[in-house]
Amino acid sequence: MMLDGLYQEIILDHYKHPHGRGLRDPFNGEAHHVNPTCGDEITVRVAADLSDISYDGLGCSISQASASVLYELLKGRTPQDAAGIHEAFVALMQGRGQVEPDEDVLGDGIAFAGVAKFPARVKCALLPWMAFKDAAARAGIDVSSEVTA
Ligand code: ZN
Repeated sequence: MMLDGLYQEIILDHYKHPHGRGLRDPFNGEAHHVNPTCGDEITVRVAADLSDISYDGLGCSISQASASVLYELLKGRTPQDAAGIHEAFVALMQGRGQVEPDEDVLGDGIAFAGVAKFPARVKCALLPWMAFKDAAARAGIDVSSEVTA
């Protein structure tokens, strides 16, 4: 897999120095997701007011870096903002490389634009976001981005 050098650097940096990693209390919803095709696992905990999003996992650099980016982008947001960012990230990942990412919305998430061209790796990138969606639902937050892939 060949990614743009800068994008690859951003992903590797989040992988080596994850932001907000580790499971914390208190939380209102938790979800554990696995991506069997790659062997990635992630557990996400969500506080009902999004004052904290904590996670732990193992797997490839893309899945783990994606969790770090998710934490950075969604923690402390209003549920409405979080839903919008969630939707933008899912749209980017399902765009097969045809969706132009908006850095104002997605921050370091734009680094995953190159990953969208590799269907097998899209599941890695989306894993934490799907786990977040389930954990958020259990915490009473509706993040209803449709996932079709
Ligand atoms: Zn993976």
